[in-house]
Amino acid sequence: MKVIEKVDETQIQIVKDYVNHKFKIVEERNAGELEFQQAVKEVFDSLVPVLVKNPVYIKQGILERIVEPERLIHFRVPWVDDEGNVKVNRGFRVQFNSAIGPYKGGLRFHPSVNASIIKFLGFEQILKNSLTGQPIGGGKGGSDFDPKGKSDLEIMRFCQSFMTELSKHIGPDTDVPAGDIGVGAREIGYMFGQYKKLRGAYEAGVLTGKGINYGGSLGRTEATGYGLVYFVDEMLKGKGLSFNNNTVVISGSGNVSIYAMQKAIQLGAKVVACSDSSGYIYHKSGINLDTVKQLKEVESKRISEYVAIHPDAIYVEGCAGIWSLPCDIALPCATQNELDKEAANLLLSNGVKAVGEGANMPSTQEAIDLFIDQGVLFGPAKAANAGGVSVSALEMAQNSARLAWTAQEVDTKLQEIMKNIYRECVKSSEEYGAPGNLVVGANIAGFVKVADAMVSQGVV
Ligand code: NDP
Repeated sequence: MKVIEKVDETQIQIVKDYVNHKFKIVEERNAGELEFQQAVKEVFDSLVPVLVKNPVYIKQGILERIVEPERLIHFRVPWVDDEGNVKVNRGFRVQFNSAIGPYKGGLRFHPSVNASIIKFLGFEQILKNSLTGQPIGGGKGGSDFDPKGKSDLEIMRFCQSFMTELSKHIGPDTDVPAGDIGVGAREIGYMFGQYKKLRGAYEAGVLTGKGINYGGSLGRTEATGYGLVYFVDEMLKGKGLSFNNNTVVISGSGNVSIYAMQKAIQLGAKVVACSDSSGYIYHKSGINLDTVKQLKEVESKRISEYVAIHPDAIYVEGCAGIWSLPCDIALPCATQNELDKEAANLLLSNGVKAVGEGANMPSTQEAIDLFIDQGVLFGPAKAANAGGVSVSALEMAQNSARLAWTAQEVDTKLQEIMKNIYRECVKSSEEYGAPGNLVVGANIAGFVKVADAMVSQGVV
């Protein structure tokens, strides 16, 4: 990644060497945790000009401290399936950084979950939460439990067992989990019920993403997808472009993807493709979102079933090919590292104008470098998908004030937050010599606020 700074070259080299040395230590201390290392590397590479300008961060050991979680909790989750068999999964919660507020970040239930995935997500969350302008620190958690194919009762028993342990470590002023892959309103409901029973108190602010009838916020379900589209819309406007009449390809068909599709369609775009972990559908005349919602949100079916209802659409097994489809705007909204160098080259050869990351770290570093070098508008995850956690923070605010805002009020606040994040990223990218590079802008804007708070609070 190119970072240009008009200061003494020797000084820059000294700081680069320092950063490389610190990253080497991260690699050694977190051996084998490739996703975590990838997330740290991307951030460290952006920080050279900040450290050159603010040597206090070096003196105060901010890099060493920010990559070390304040706490990593790893626990056993035993539960009983419908046949009476005892099953054991692994539970995790990383309480990464509380410099600017209580730990905040989702819970992911997916078989791929391990310490590296949770730590990469938690690390990203520190800077993302800082970017939102809300007083929330960084955390993340989850389990290698696979909700696919489980009955409702099995899901409930698992969530109760998971929360029995997690409840010892969270609270409205300490750590506030939410949903992520595999954790939606149903799972949050079961976990909230168990937490309430164990605590013997109604602490609504302990979890976000709750149902509307027991403390949830209107607009939270839509927030990440809508926020992503609001952010990309700002990037497009900066170049005199818009969603209107543009073709969009969106990976995934979960929470983020569905509401990104909804908002993009509302803004006049034609969404032609989406996917799940088995394959993707291509509907050249435009995807029917009601069908996708019915299949994925209501019936929990595979996206392949879409073509039985819309025979003019096609289904392709495997996910990577989705990026070979012609589009103006690409929104990766499924999972980490789903868009690599090859996919980036395909998108570029088809003339993609903008890429906005709805998922966390969906693009590899090589893909990001290609987009930036080729002048494609690129919205990095920690800025572009921050709408979800922003509305989670609004849910916490409503819970603590014991009131509820209308959907319109929440949406207006979300739009303002996303515009503000965009402005902050642009400002930091310009201030630190990489104008228009929102990866650098997001990393720096998120980092500075947390680093300053850490300096103020002493070595803790
Ligand atoms: P969901 O579980 O609702 O949906 C995930 C979607 O991605 C599903 O369509 C799923 O397919 C697909 N998917 C999952 N794993 C893979 C894989 N290995 N390869 C290809 N496709 C896969 O999750 P969300 O929509 O909530 O989350 C999606 C991404 O957005 C994640 O990276 C998450 O961390 C990030 N995010 C989510 C936020 C939120 O508010 N929910 C906030 C910020 C970021 P299938 O149906 O087959 O499982």
